[in-house]
Amino acid sequence: MRSYSRRTVLFQSTLAAAWGQNPQARYDLLIRGGHVIDPSQNLSAVRDVAIARGKVARIAEGIPESSARQVVDARGKLVTPGLIDIHVHVYDGVAPLGIPADPNCIAKGVTTVVDAGSAGAHTFPGLRKYVINVVDTRVYALLNISVVGQSTLSTDNPWGELIDLRLANPKLAIKTIEENRDVILGIKIRLTENIAGRHDLDALRLAREASDAVGLPIMAHIGGTFSSLPKILELLRKGDVITHTYRAGEGGILDSNMRVLPEVRKAVANGLRLDVGHGAGSFGWGVAEAALKQDLAPGTISSDVHHYNVQGPVLDLATTLSKFLHLGMKLEDVMARATVNAANTFGFPKGLGTLREGSEGDVAVFQMAEGDFVLTDSGKQSRVVHRRLLPVATVKGGRVYGAASIPVVTL
Ligand SMILES: [Zn+2]
Repeated sequence: MRSYSRRTVLFQSTLAAAWGQNPQARYDLLIRGGHVIDPSQNLSAVRDVAIARGKVARIAEGIPESSARQVVDARGKLVTPGLIDIHVHVYDGVAPLGIPADPNCIAKGVTTVVDAGSAGAHTFPGLRKYVINVVDTRVYALLNISVVGQSTLSTDNPWGELIDLRLANPKLAIKTIEENRDVILGIKIRLTENIAGRHDLDALRLAREASDAVGLPIMAHIGGTFSSLPKILELLRKGDVITHTYRAGEGGILDSNMRVLPEVRKAVANGLRLDVGHGAGSFGWGVAEAALKQDLAPGTISSDVHHYNVQGPVLDLATTLSKFLHLGMKLEDVMARATVNAANTFGFPKGLGTLREGSEGDVAVFQMAEGDFVLTDSGKQSRVVHRRLLPVATVKGGRVYGAASIPVVTL
């Protein structure tokens, strides 16, 4: 990854990166002239962002180029805090749905991710040793309540990690979390019937037991469950998260008349958080359109990017964010859901998802492409959208990474 990053920075044709011009400079990096959107401080204006010793040192207009060792010309681009994607799968080589973190996250404007349950107590040490500790993307995790994590389910083996309830082990989950509190931020459970059988509520009670013992939230994957969503919601608490909020089909947030279930509104009023988790099967344009019309907006927008959707329909977090622009959300509100809101959902260290002075030097640069782009949901339904966020470059801890090119469908 390191040589890859250096190469892509050097070949980054859309940015003028001036290297080594000012050895006495007070800043290491200046991201100049972009439209900065930082919802954490209600900022949406043209600004320069200066970074020193890996931290945001200053945001202002007209910071001189001569004050920085390296300059990224972001004029005409959008500049945001490094994005946070709270639902990805980056246990490449162990979970069948795992993908490598760096080409799919840090190369796409995402500096911080949460691996959502790819690992359980038995497989977590490998996630830590071979992924978290070595990749450039900042990776946190939600521990699967099943000891095997998401290592069983694939397209050719359709049985998930809780099909045998004996694999849900709160005691081992608690022990693993206590030993890894610096990187484990919560507990993940998937409740779809081919994963949790008909004992979904029993499995969720075991996740609840572990969650209560360690004082960390649950992220519950909903949809296609044996038990109804209202029954599941009864076991969730303030600060817990449901992911796949806009999934089409049985077990979702809407009734048969496309009205938001009253139990969902009540749970949200009581502090339940709604996450998108687009995924291969969990985002329906029709559901999202109906829900947003009824003012049921997500708290966080995450991609659930993994092996079975990274070639489409998900592609990356920026594409999922673009779908919410098409749904009518303001750019600033969309960005809040992948920066400050994401940072507030779990117990991350301070200084992520924001460009406040003194915070981590994590920045994403995007181009807003305008035209006609076909974006597809998880059920092969398409919409023609007219704005699309394209990742251009990423900065993490003051270091510049190039952005990988992504397929663009133009009519
Ligand atoms: Zn997932």
